[in-house]
Amino acid sequence: MKTLIYADHAATTALSNSAREAMEPFLQTSYGNPSTLHSFSVEPRKAVYRSREMIAAVIHAEPDEIFFTSGGTEADNWAIKGTIFQHVPGKKVITSVIEHHAVLNTCVALSRMGYPVITLPVDTEGHVDPIMLRGSITPDVALVSVMLANNEIGTINPLGDLAAEAHNGGVLCHTDAVQAIGHISVNVNDLNVDFLSASAHKFNGPKGIGFLYVRRGTKLLPLIDGGGQELGMRSGTENVAGIVGMAIALQEHNENLSQETEYLQGLTKRLLSRLEQYHLDFRVNGSLNRVPGNLNLSFKNADAEMLLHRLDLMGTAVATGSACNSKEKELSHVIQAIHVPHDYAHGTIRITLGMDNRESDIDKIAEQIAKILS
Ligand code: PLP
Repeated sequence: MKTLIYADHAATTALSNSAREAMEPFLQTSYGNPSTLHSFSVEPRKAVYRSREMIAAVIHAEPDEIFFTSGGTEADNWAIKGTIFQHVPGKKVITSVIEHHAVLNTCVALSRMGYPVITLPVDTEGHVDPIMLRGSITPDVALVSVMLANNEIGTINPLGDLAAEAHNGGVLCHTDAVQAIGHISVNVNDLNVDFLSASAHKFNGPKGIGFLYVRRGTKLLPLIDGGGQELGMRSGTENVAGIVGMAIALQEHNENLSQETEYLQGLTKRLLSRLEQYHLDFRVNGSLNRVPGNLNLSFKNADAEMLLHRLDLMGTAVATGSACNSKEKELSHVIQAIHVPHDYAHGTIRITLGMDNRESDIDKIAEQIAKILS
């Protein structure tokens, strides 16, 4: 029988058992609307509050700094548009070339509305340089938005230094931490950011729920108007079960962070050494300082799409770092931005491991890749 191996944890993860169990009562028994005045609202309201406290504790924030959203995309849109729309067109946003499209396309939309966007380059490992950021800050910049960890190559940015540069220039700082939260230790005070986006399905929580951290006292316009939930900042009946599942999943990862990091780093090391044993010609993209479990690999003269589909047929799920044909323009924006040499770039795949992967999976993945490429 074909063994199925999931190695695409940066795309999404399975719901953890404890998150599912914690969510269940809020789907059928305690299904009340947390905003109503009768007793059916009591348990859901308490659960939402408890979850807000749990999430705040993990990232060293206060509960009233956590606002629930439908996920990372909404949180990114909200932080950026909710800041910029307080200003007349002409105010600028600074971002980086390797952001997720939730940020990049928000910036494209803003630039069409007359808010110019400055896109900073990255070094060959995917870092944004704080000194370069300093040089780009002028009085007409309203927001800096740079991701904490990149979704393709896993590189972790020096956010504390970047936020310090933004603040020195009198500018607010947002970070998309969707790939970081639950996988590395995140302390909003050390990062010194004003806004931080997260998404539950990246850390074994449910899909369609996330949050935006907003530092107390920071002005942000609501994007979704309605019944005034979330202190009037984000209307819409709360996704109670989703919120509860997200808090449990995050707390679980946070409690096990050091063991998980060690385990995943062990698996990635094993995969690299297995691939080397097969004498494959490949390079590892990104920084050594990256999210545990992320391996972005470029195989010389390989076709990433073919590799992905052949692996899929063998039962293994990975992602590509480049899109589906060999035209330069269709290479992933991240792979282009870090200047992966042409003969490697088109053979780029992203393997993202999780706690459900075993050493036997790693050996199998290496064997399958070697077989396909030989
Ligand atoms: N930002 C990053 C870095 C991501 O990796 C993703 C999802 O892949 C998102 C934002 C979007 O999050 P969501 O799927 O919750 O909308």
